[in-house]
Amino acid sequence: MKKIFVVLLFTCLGYGIVYAQKTKPIYLNESQPIEKRIEDALSRMTLQEKIAMIHAQSKFSSPGVPRLGIPEVWTTDGPHGIRTEVLWDEWKQAGWSNDSCMAFPALTCLASSWDKTLSKLYGNAIGEEARYRNKTVLLGPGVNIYRSPLNGRNFEYMGEDPYLASQMVVPYVKGVQDNGVAACVKHFALNNQETDRHGVNVIVDDRTLYEIYLPAFKAAVQEGKAWAIMGAYGLYKHQHCCHNEYLLQDILRKEWKFDGIVLSDWGGTHDTMEAITNGLDIEFGTGTDGLTKGMNAYDAYYLAHPYYEMIQKGEFGTVELDEKVRNILRLQFRTGMNTEKPFGSFGSPEHGEAARKIAEGGIVLLKNDNDVLPVQLEKTKTIAVIGENAIKMMTVGGGSSSLKAKYEITPLQGILNRVGDQAEVVYVRGYVGDTTGDYNGVKSGQNLKDNRSEDELLAEALEIAQKADVVIFIGGLNKSKFQDCEGADRKSLALPYNQDRVVSALAKVTDKLVFVNISGNAVAMPWVKEVPAIIQGWYLGSESGNALASILVGDVNPSGKLCFTFPESLEESPAHSIGEFGTTTEVKYTEGLYVGYRYNDKNKVKPLFPFGHGVSYTTFSYGNIEADRKTMQADGTLTLKVAITNTGAVDGAEVVQLYVQDKKSAVDRPVKELKGFEKVFLKAGETKMVSFTITKEALSYFDAVKHEWVAEPGTFMALVGASSSDIKDKFRFELQ
Ligand code: BGC
Repeated sequence: MKKIFVVLLFTCLGYGIVYAQKTKPIYLNESQPIEKRIEDALSRMTLQEKIAMIHAQSKFSSPGVPRLGIPEVWTTDGPHGIRTEVLWDEWKQAGWSNDSCMAFPALTCLASSWDKTLSKLYGNAIGEEARYRNKTVLLGPGVNIYRSPLNGRNFEYMGEDPYLASQMVVPYVKGVQDNGVAACVKHFALNNQETDRHGVNVIVDDRTLYEIYLPAFKAAVQEGKAWAIMGAYGLYKHQHCCHNEYLLQDILRKEWKFDGIVLSDWGGTHDTMEAITNGLDIEFGTGTDGLTKGMNAYDAYYLAHPYYEMIQKGEFGTVELDEKVRNILRLQFRTGMNTEKPFGSFGSPEHGEAARKIAEGGIVLLKNDNDVLPVQLEKTKTIAVIGENAIKMMTVGGGSSSLKAKYEITPLQGILNRVGDQAEVVYVRGYVGDTTGDYNGVKSGQNLKDNRSEDELLAEALEIAQKADVVIFIGGLNKSKFQDCEGADRKSLALPYNQDRVVSALAKVTDKLVFVNISGNAVAMPWVKEVPAIIQGWYLGSESGNALASILVGDVNPSGKLCFTFPESLEESPAHSIGEFGTTTEVKYTEGLYVGYRYNDKNKVKPLFPFGHGVSYTTFSYGNIEADRKTMQADGTLTLKVAITNTGAVDGAEVVQLYVQDKKSAVDRPVKELKGFEKVFLKAGETKMVSFTITKEALSYFDAVKHEWVAEPGTFMALVGASSSDIKDKFRFELQ
């Protein structure tokens, strides 16, 4: 009897499920293929509903279809943490009390870790934060190439090398999207300066575009399978990038087969016709004059009423519109309407731990003469900490990546936390830079005012420096306008606020001086020979101070390597000496492929610090390259192995870099190009084999006439080294 009842119950349940599946509209039925669901949803929508979906309804959102249960799209900056909620129509923060996020290190720091596992960790953690805050799209990561050290937004990007940026962007994208949140790679493309960012037309040759400026976007799309991309503000081929036929249609959709959504940058749309035909899917942030136009300002967007009217008048059919809506629906089925997605988490200790690990992995020790570092606490009575950036919060400011962080440990606080009562820490200001701390209503809450003169501040600094066992100067740039900040570029390579004077003076009274450069850009260091230890400290987010302190005292052995070149002067920066930078209306990338180390190699320029450079508290030795063959077939591979040994007394990690050189080519090629890297952790005394596999791809250049990648048969060299200017061994091979 019992058995019959159970069988009956299960049969009924089974029928129930099948019935429910059958009666559920196809677009809501997750067992149906996505493309089928898209067509079904599309067929149920009115023209007005479709038009509504392709432009914003508030500062950061666009409507869904309430009648059909299709949710709104909610975007958020990006890329270093989840932006605070803003008022519906304004940039100003809304003043919620539940939206303080974990601030992660800037992307320059992540890229300088050369550690793909950290990139995945980053993507996952920030993706969880976005998911918890119910966001559909995270506006990041940014992968515009570091062309000039003056670009105000370099800190949001992944450095000068297309291969490094490509490798580092993919895990970030995947990590975010594992949470059912779309990563929106930005700014596509050629957004390499802030000056006249809405109006400047970039002149760059095709080969340079394909070899330098596009690879990271392509990797994000094809390997990372990014679900969204943001158009850039500027123009290319005299057409705005947010509705640029060549970039969005020819390259992104046709060549790369991108099936996600294209968003405009905020205020990056300028033309209805182009926006309709050239592949822009959602228009955001267009400036309208509030509610005074007689209709809701959002209805006045290029992809709103003007488009609707054109369709009504018969000037346009709905082919393009349907395609845009399809892309948005696909996004929704992958994100908001994916019922399998995780729940996310926000501001958790795990995210703090992730932020700290990434920061520690990306900090670069640029030099360390006489083993000034790590600070040996058992032998140290007094530590002098000097400089505004030791106490200034850096999560507030810099433009759209500004954050309302749950907490931010400043460098000084981190040092105090770590040193405890093991030594005396004395802080003095040294210089006064920028005392503001407010971005769209988010306030750092710090009072940094100090009215003393430069001379008074210097005299005080010198006095405490003389008495200290070690002096840590923490300076650099900040997130204010004309520094590392969106909307304007830096005016010079020099450190601001007369810091050079302070550093030089300090170097005269102590031989234990450490300079910590907090920045997302290279700075000039005219005193470099006078200062024994220099650290590139980036913008490190919530865990800044803790991460810096652990490097300073040696709890963590530094292992970051620069993701861009530090030139000695702007004359050594190709965007300035050969090409143009910071011009309005038009900017010529005349230096072509010769960006960063490619320029230094060609012109035999010794930079201040080269791309890929970073030292450690231990030393590494490199064995000779061993290869599995000397001749590589065009469809084959070549595998190289190198033994790396930690020859010092402490555990550490080395970033082993593989560059490839084409010995002879029909076209002019850079002396060498990065084509592989591996970060290897080694205990003191330990040896590990690092291996690289070379394929034809790594040997190719972009033939602009044929419009394809070409690997010419002939002789190549594989160069393995510790930086772009520290090659340890070379191996010659042939491509057949
Ligand atoms: C920036 C984007 C950002 C957007 C939204 C724009 O000004 O260029 O990177 O995502 O604003 O805040």
